Amino acid sequence: MLQAFKSKHIKRLPDGFYSDFLSNLAKERKPSAIRSLFPLEKTPGLISLLAGKPNASTFPFTSLSFNARSPINPGEETTLNISGDELAQGLQYGDTAGLKSLLDWLHGLQERNHGRKVDEGWKISVGSGSQDLIYKAVAAMVNPGDSVLVESPVYAGVIPMFHSLHCNQIEVDTDSQGIQSSSLRTILEQWPEGTPKPKVLYTVPYGCNPTGMTATLERRKEVLKLAREHNFIILEDDPYFYLYYGKAPRYPSYFALELEEPDVGRVLRFDSLSKILSAGIRIGFASGPDALLNAIDQHTATSNLQTSSLTQAIVFKLLDSWGYEGFKIHTERVSAFYAAKRDVFERAMNKHLAGLAEWSTPEAGMFFWFKLRLSDNADAGSGDSEAVIKTQAFEKGVLALPGTVFLPNGRATPYVRASFSLLGEEDVDKAIQRLRDTILDARAA
Ligand code: PMP
Repeated sequence: MLQAFKSKHIKRLPDGFYSDFLSNLAKERKPSAIRSLFPLEKTPGLISLLAGKPNASTFPFTSLSFNARSPINPGEETTLNISGDELAQGLQYGDTAGLKSLLDWLHGLQERNHGRKVDEGWKISVGSGSQDLIYKAVAAMVNPGDSVLVESPVYAGVIPMFHSLHCNQIEVDTDSQGIQSSSLRTILEQWPEGTPKPKVLYTVPYGCNPTGMTATLERRKEVLKLAREHNFIILEDDPYFYLYYGKAPRYPSYFALELEEPDVGRVLRFDSLSKILSAGIRIGFASGPDALLNAIDQHTATSNLQTSSLTQAIVFKLLDSWGYEGFKIHTERVSAFYAAKRDVFERAMNKHLAGLAEWSTPEAGMFFWFKLRLSDNADAGSGDSEAVIKTQAFEKGVLALPGTVFLPNGRATPYVRASFSLLGEEDVDKAIQRLRDTILDARAA
């Protein structure tokens, strides 16, 4: 998928490095007495009286079959069957970090796509969607009152997360090339003395939600450099990585790029299967330094114990039957699907919104982020989209999200996020015409 990675000696940050990055809560958490002994159950010849696992012979399920499309020929379906040991594992409690077979598969995927080899001081944990892991990661790293760097506009799903953990969200400006590293540098260089600097930066580098933008290579490199200079961890939330419309990801991930750094271990990466396999199956995975992932696992061990074994078994069965090549073909098809949707949407925008809105064309993901021109005065483009979108557009029969919900401080903005993943051509045209009528009415008012 991605160009070949150079193999070179990796200097990884020592485990002790992360003690400054763990929250008090994470440090105080005690490992689960039972779960930490789980691996010993696999010792040959051992008789385990350890876990309170229910006896699977009492479970009513005897086999599980599902049909899946072939990645090569989506018109063709194959029946996949989960039975025997695979089913037993899927029906039973399992390791906190995830099902071993699935973790192994995902390790192989990360090696192919990000050049990260196993046994180099990093690991993977599976979560109930990436949201689950992002929340646990943040809770493992920040204390109340800490400052965190968030790209702005930012994925609305993390604003309440940081808020509930009583963090001070420092907005870092973005543009069509991703995070503006110059404003990030200014923030960090002008950081008030005596105030602890932020420990994390949250960013969505491909097809950002909400802006649709993809961070360029140069920006990524600058952000990584700043992470080392100012000692913060990059939370790379990349659910749209596989929704890049080109043939291969155009830019390496932060997780891949940090291999070029003098030392490795400042990136905690989140992947999601929601946009490429199923959102309801709730599988995401985090890849990063052992110390941070172990803290996430300890949270899991005390909250939901583990991600569903059965959904992991289903996902593994499917991925294993496809192989990495099948996965690549499938994800390329999904991204081509969204590229076509993007084109349909943009055609309608050009037709109906010329002069009434401004936007940059997304290269990945499923969102257009556009600025309403609510007046013709010199300040055209300023204003507040909230009432226009929430009330007037809704009354005309179109629903979109006012940009303010993506700004941690909730200020007024003329921007709007429109998702183009679900609509057919006819509905797109109607929706954009309704937006046009809304903007014209607002300008006339
Ligand atoms: N991060 C971003 C940027 C998202 O857009 C989403 C889904 N809307 C998530 C995380 C959560 O995804 P998941 O289904 O994997 O929990």
